[in-house]
Amino acid sequence: MVKEAPYTVLVRDLPTHRRFEVPPKLVSEWLKGLPMRDALGAPDADPEAGDGVAELDLYADGTHAFASGTFKGGLTVACSRCVNPVRLPIDEKLLVTFLPPSEMPKDEDDAEAEEGAEVTDGDLDVFPFDGERIDLEPLFREQFVLSVPYAPLCREDCKGLCPQCGIDRNSATCTCEKPMDPRLAALKGLKLPS
Ligand SMILES: [Zn+2]
Ligand SMILES: [Zn+2]
Repeated sequence: MVKEAPYTVLVRDLPTHRRFEVPPKLVSEWLKGLPMRDALGAPDADPEAGDGVAELDLYADGTHAFASGTFKGGLTVACSRCVNPVRLPIDEKLLVTFLPPSEMPKDEDDAEAEEGAEVTDGDLDVFPFDGERIDLEPLFREQFVLSVPYAPLCREDCKGLCPQCGIDRNSATCTCEKPMDPRLAALKGLKLPS
């Protein structure tokens, strides 16, 4: 059962192996505000938002703590062309170092440093911790947020929506004419309908 704040581990309990589940309710919350998520018009607590499972080995060396393992799951966003739901899988290997705030790399972007800075291409992350407890929530959150591509597609050749009538061209056809470019129309001296 997932409790309200289940992603904290005390350093004095290390080393340990833990399994964490991320329910759709949290995924909805974390992805709220992302355009490709909001475009779905899904309810706030969307059971289809996504979920995940982390299997982590957690250990410490006195000053630092480490988490290594896997994160698997998925999330649902809108296709950037047809706005239909797209399920994106997550299957990541995690290797995370928790550092005292004083050792956190000084990033140009302070906000990013607080949320966790990416040192390499996703294999090694660092997060700050207070030396007593590790908070894994920012790490799990990042797995979902970073999984959303700039322009998700339901399939490589998605035909998108008709810009005039809005019909889904993947499953239907319409008879809309291609609109004339207004600049072209002006050049031809045509009077445009207002
Ligand atoms: Zn599509
Ligand atoms: Zn149309």
